[in-house]
Amino acid sequence: MKMNELHCGCCAAALTVHPLTDCLANRMCESLFQHNAEGIMLTDAAAIILRVNQAFSCITGFTAAEVLGKTPAILRSSHHDASFYQQMWAAISTTGSWQGRIWNRRKDNSVYQQWLKITAIYNEQKQITHYLSVFQDLSIVRLHDQQRRKLLTLDNLTGLGNRELLVSRFPQILAQCRALNLMLHVVWIDGGQLTQVNQQHGLKYGDLLIKAQAQTLKAAVSPEQTLVRLYADDYVVLAVSACTDAAVETQLQGFIDGLSQSYLLDDIQVSTTPAIGVARYPLDGDSEELLLQAAETALFHAKKQGGGRVCFYNARQAAASVRRHQIKHLLSAELSAVPSELSLYFQAKVVMQSRKICGAEVLLRWCSAQLGWVSPAEFIAIAEESRLIIHLDRWVINELCRVVQLLPEQRRPLISFNVSARQLSEADFADWLLNCLQRHNLPAAALEMEVTESAFIDNPAQAMQLLSRLRQQGLRIALDDFGTGYSSLVYLKNMPLDTVKIDRSVIFDVTSNYKSQCILKRLHAMLQDLQLAMVVEGVETEVQHQLLHNMGCEVAQGFFYGKPMPVEQFCQLLQGSRLC
Ligand code: C2E
Ligand code: CA
Ligand code: CA
Repeated sequence: MKMNELHCGCCAAALTVHPLTDCLANRMCESLFQHNAEGIMLTDAAAIILRVNQAFSCITGFTAAEVLGKTPAILRSSHHDASFYQQMWAAISTTGSWQGRIWNRRKDNSVYQQWLKITAIYNEQKQITHYLSVFQDLSIVRLHDQQRRKLLTLDNLTGLGNRELLVSRFPQILAQCRALNLMLHVVWIDGGQLTQVNQQHGLKYGDLLIKAQAQTLKAAVSPEQTLVRLYADDYVVLAVSACTDAAVETQLQGFIDGLSQSYLLDDIQVSTTPAIGVARYPLDGDSEELLLQAAETALFHAKKQGGGRVCFYNARQAAASVRRHQIKHLLSAELSAVPSELSLYFQAKVVMQSRKICGAEVLLRWCSAQLGWVSPAEFIAIAEESRLIIHLDRWVINELCRVVQLLPEQRRPLISFNVSARQLSEADFADWLLNCLQRHNLPAAALEMEVTESAFIDNPAQAMQLLSRLRQQGLRIALDDFGTGYSSLVYLKNMPLDTVKIDRSVIFDVTSNYKSQCILKRLHAMLQDLQLAMVVEGVETEVQHQLLHNMGCEVAQGFFYGKPMPVEQFCQLLQGSRLC
């Protein structure tokens, strides 16, 4: 048969073949025929098999020699009755082709499903000369499909299930629980310490930690439970049970104990503090979304309590969580446009001797149209859970530069602003800040940056480098809230600081507590020796003022001298200058 003699069975049109030489066309045709992944069988008009390709033999198990000269009847299974074949041949004789699913038999007698297309081939007199059958083994297609789907639901790093698996399994499991009246525990696990490991040792070690945690969990989860890695070091377990919380809690405590170990990752040793949040069907929700939300809320509370524990969801936490989400949402909406609800308040710092203003701290205020006044203690903590704090801090600094620039140069007191620890680990922060000052034509020496000790903990070397660079440019650096937390003396020794602010918790009982007086006296002497300026925070009364002044404290801040106030009011105060 010559290729350019072929006539299509479906439309009876002559197949146009590129005018290649007969020899090349034959070789191409032969190669296409032999190497096609689909099985191909050519018969004559009487259905005698003339040619088969390699895929035919692979699928059916028959070699070419075993089928040539025979009819396709040797492939038939007993799955179809005579009427099936009659309809098939009727279609071929009227339309020139037929295609569909058909059960056939292999040489080893196994029956399998094919997708078969039979096309009649005509000569120029419109008589059928051949039939061309092309088929796929659907059991292989299905197997590939299953394998592909399995791969899609597998987490590459750990070999655990992934988010896709959770999304596809969760509705089935929930339906099963509904039907059989079973309880479902949705367990959200945070492995702990991934961020620190990534930052301190690099992503390679972060990946090793995740793999190690995954192994620990895999060993602790029973086969009928579903375990997936959701993202980073967050895992979810779906545990169906007829049993009580107490029984599940024992297993979860096992997770905590297993994960609270010291992992050896190549050449480094890492200790982790996991946290677990649990929600229960039907108690805490009846949809996948509600249950996951509830488990996440419970996890948030487990982490807030320092981790190393399992927290079950409860409704009170839920109300707090709704407010947290609301604040996050409203605040980010506020920052995405030109903020109209945010404003800067200024709280004076005074020289204790003269009671005159020597500086101020800028404090952010938010009066939300929906929530009313929201305390910074609340919304800053929420912003710090995400990158929202980066935008918030930068908005404050930019706004502060704009305001300070408007003050007459000779009357500008040193104004300090707060930055979160997260901000300091932003690679571009120093450039951004210097650029912001330049844009507002403001010298760095006009401002002071207040940082808390938490900014040094994760990466002290990086923090030191950043602070040194900014300090060289003239910016003053204050260590905030000293006296709470660890109050590590190492930071006082090593970090490039100008000022230390003593937290209110150290001085609030100074008039009645001898120990507070001893601590303050020693702190004052030590900071003097280290040539660091000291500011006492939270002075509320004349008696406190007198006592602290007598101890030698020089600069103070607190409600006694003035509450945080809008800029216009602060400017008026500046003109009077002497406070209280
Ligand atoms: P902070 O930096 O320690 O600020 C001092 C806080 O103590 C302010 O609370 C201030 O109003 C309050 N305070 C001042 N004097 C007294 C006093 O005599 N008695 C009492 N009881 N409190 C006094 P505020 O404004 O509610 O701010 C709370 C915290 O929110 C700040 O603590 C700071 O950590 C954070 N914050 C405020 N504004 C910003 C900001 O722009 N950026 C960042 N990152 N944090 C901010
Ligand atoms: Ca502060
Ligand atoms: Ca403070």
